[in-house]
Amino acid sequence: MRVAIAGFQHETNSFAKVKASLAKWQEAGILHGDEIVKEYKESKATIAGILSRLGTETDVDLVPLVFSRLMPMGHMTVEATDYLVNEILKLIEEQGPWDIVFLAQHGAAVSDKYKDPDGEVAERVRAIVGPDVIIVTNLDMHGNISRKLVANSDIVKVYQTNPHLDTFERAFESADLAVKYFKGEIKPTMYLSTPPLVVNILKQGTSDKPMSDLLKFAELEMKNSKVLSVSVVEGYPYSDVPQMGMTFLAITNNDAALAESVANKIGLHAWNMRADLNGVATSTEKALAEANNQSEKPIVLFDVGDNVGAGTPGDSTFVLHAARRLGVSGVLQALCDPAIVKLCASLGIGARVEAEVGGKFDDMHGTPFPIKGIVTAITNGTYAETKPSHGGFLYYNDGPSAAIKTDDGYNILLTSLPAMSSSLLQFRNAGLEPLDHKIIVVKGVHSPRPAYEAIAKKMYWLDTAGASTADLSNFKYAHRRFPMYPFEEDTSWDAKD
Ligand SMILES: [Zn+2]
Repeated sequence: MRVAIAGFQHETNSFAKVKASLAKWQEAGILHGDEIVKEYKESKATIAGILSRLGTETDVDLVPLVFSRLMPMGHMTVEATDYLVNEILKLIEEQGPWDIVFLAQHGAAVSDKYKDPDGEVAERVRAIVGPDVIIVTNLDMHGNISRKLVANSDIVKVYQTNPHLDTFERAFESADLAVKYFKGEIKPTMYLSTPPLVVNILKQGTSDKPMSDLLKFAELEMKNSKVLSVSVVEGYPYSDVPQMGMTFLAITNNDAALAESVANKIGLHAWNMRADLNGVATSTEKALAEANNQSEKPIVLFDVGDNVGAGTPGDSTFVLHAARRLGVSGVLQALCDPAIVKLCASLGIGARVEAEVGGKFDDMHGTPFPIKGIVTAITNGTYAETKPSHGGFLYYNDGPSAAIKTDDGYNILLTSLPAMSSSLLQFRNAGLEPLDHKIIVVKGVHSPRPAYEAIAKKMYWLDTAGASTADLSNFKYAHRRFPMYPFEEDTSWDAKD
């Protein structure tokens, strides 16, 4: 059994201004061959799940070709898209023939060249390998899945938790289905149901209602032994493309009518819950005032508008400005500001610093926040999180970082790269103890939860502005489907469409 693994993972925010250029991909790392195994084998990410299942087979020639992933940001440039797609196609062609090809994608990529790079790469790999090679596409739960992608894959598996804690398990199952198909034990048949429906980012937590109910409903379909897999796919509302939205995918054992009816049944169930799948966030001022009055600490405030994991720069200052305006101190927050990190490094630990931090990358995430204070730490910004974390990643790199304690009671961790709030080690690494702070501001909606839910006395999701704000009416879409719920409230859906 000759097996290839390849992929590029990007969640593209069409409203974010920093483009996913080739230089950015190269900086993040375009891995080849054994580099891929070295980076992911011990992680809980998709590639680890594939390696683990195939490792139980004898007589497998497993060939990792090329893999890269880049933080969410704006559109992939033409140059980056051409390079990444062509590299996959070239290696698939040169090193074949194959029995199984795994495409470890994300599913919400958008490029200046194609509106559906994930579907494009599946279609072009299919054109090279022909109809008899098994193509498995692994996707993030935020994938905006197109019919083109499904038509050119034999098996599509999608994470079913948000925060994403089941990446390994879903990839393991995808490899299991692929091996059984290769051995002639099953014949996977897929159907994708596509109601014109968006689930708001605030309602995407899979351990909270209503998503938890929807997932339980979907899981019941697995009781039928002819159903091999069902996926509820949340989709990514910040990609301005026709395939944007929730989708529902069923794989059966050689029963196309059953796949269609199962996928549509789950789709209809979600459609009937559409009002509950949308909602509004808490005002920043209200959350700060309430947090300030709590006797227990820490209170965790989620900066929804600057969700680094959704493609924002990680330098939003709206919450800090509001806190100062309201006289609320004791706040801990990370901010991306490479220039001031450099300044702090040149001044040294213990030095006094006066600067304006954050709010610099674009005009969507607030204005610079003036501070006076002391540099308390300088680090390289790397840490390894072995506890469960969003996406199952092990290694984190926020770039060179510096901590500043301001004279008016804010502890600010400055990073050189946009930094997600996936691990408490981010702060502890710089000598900042999250438990000692009254208020912690985290950048994200779901990704910080595995780390922060356990320590938070209370959590608030804020209505902050920014490229990932919860209020989608702030965005001007040019390419999404029309009509679509909740944008056009009276949208109707017939599963037969
Ligand atoms: Zn995701």
